[in-house]
Amino acid sequence: MIPSMQVLAKEFAVRMASAGIPFMFTCTYRSSEEQSALYAQGRINPGRIVTWTLKSKHCEGKAFDIAILKDGKPTWDVKVSVDGDTIPDYEEAGKIGEALGLVWGGRWKTPDCPHFQVKE
Ligand SMILES: [Zn+2]
Repeated sequence: MIPSMQVLAKEFAVRMASAGIPFMFTCTYRSSEEQSALYAQGRINPGRIVTWTLKSKHCEGKAFDIAILKDGKPTWDVKVSVDGDTIPDYEEAGKIGEALGLVWGGRWKTPDCPHFQVKE
């Protein structure tokens, strides 16, 4: 990641910790080759479509993805609940990111809730 993004990611982690949301970073940087391979998935290669762009902010080091942990394991459920209790979820993580001036993918027309990137 570019230095300014590293600073934001670190601060994001601090705020997530104080909000009591366990999470991990799953993806920070992607080479353009990796992005092309991801783009091919679900289009010319088998699998489900996982990305909508060939020009991802990940390729510029200006984005990161997270996974919220539930019982120590990553979950991509947008609403996370344990035994019927809703625990902090991607929407809360999104607000934390937005408070830092990041763009949260959860607001997009095709939501990408684990995704955060720099505002430009
Ligand atoms: Zn992403």
